[in-house]
Amino acid sequence: MKSFRKELWFNTRNRREFINITRQVEECVRESGIKEGLVLVNAMHITASVFINDDESGLHSDFERWLERLAPEKPYEQYAHNGFEDNADAHLKRQIMGREVVVAITDGKLDFGPWEQIFYGEFDGKRRKRVLVKIIGE
Ligand code: ZN
Repeated sequence: MKSFRKELWFNTRNRREFINITRQVEECVRESGIKEGLVLVNAMHITASVFINDDESGLHSDFERWLERLAPEKPYEQYAHNGFEDNADAHLKRQIMGREVVVAITDGKLDFGPWEQIFYGEFDGKRRKRVLVKIIGE
């Protein structure tokens, strides 16, 4: 069995952003040379997510509004976590949107369903943060 590991780095301009990382994950699969296997993609921070959904801007603004209703950023003092930080909402948003995805690799390609794309979801950005890509197979 072969294995491959790579970190992808992000530094968003805004506190919250969704970034399509599908091409970067495909590049990792190519680089790994693995034709049959699994790729795990996970956020390495507890205020960011990796998830799969449609690359459609209306849906992304729906996610933003839905998450703000569930866990509004402000007022900061509404959260017990915000004693020394202001990112309690980001922890909660990440919990809902998920930590990681696993995608099958078939014949050297990501074996997606219709419209599936991989996204990095940032909820406490403006600093360097990482995503881990781990691929196993042969
Ligand atoms: Zn925190």
